[in-house]
Amino acid sequence: MTDCLFCRIVAGEIPATVVIDEPELIAIRDVNPQAPTHVLVLPKEHIESAAELSAEHRDLWAAILAAAQHVAQADGIDRDGYRLVANIGRAGGQTVQHLHLHVLGGRQMTWPPG
Ligand code: 5GP
Ligand code: ZN
Repeated sequence: MTDCLFCRIVAGEIPATVVIDEPELIAIRDVNPQAPTHVLVLPKEHIESAAELSAEHRDLWAAILAAAQHVAQADGIDRDGYRLVANIGRAGGQTVQHLHLHVLGGRQMTWPPG
């Protein structure tokens, strides 16, 4: 039993809408979507944030990016464009301390983000 929300989703203890399930990662729909497509790509391994990634995670990070591309293609937002976001730490706005890459699209994204 872990108190990490995303580890519990990976373990199947908390339900989620899973759009990709691979040996190293899953992609789930965000429970509070900020855009028509809002998917989170996360490693099954508990890694606190993108700041913890090192050379040993090169293949994992590449797989996360590939999964994000697949999500964008599957949701039909790849041609118009979309946004990938990794929030890191408190000031970065990270609320779940398990690395995840947001895939946001299906509307015009604005800049700067809040
Ligand atoms: P962060 O702020 O850490 O970058 O993003 C965490 C994201 O996880 C938020 O967009 C939030 O809506 C999402 N989230 C929080 N709890 C759950 C949950 O139980 N299920 C799913 N699918 N997403 C969640
Ligand atoms: Zn975790």
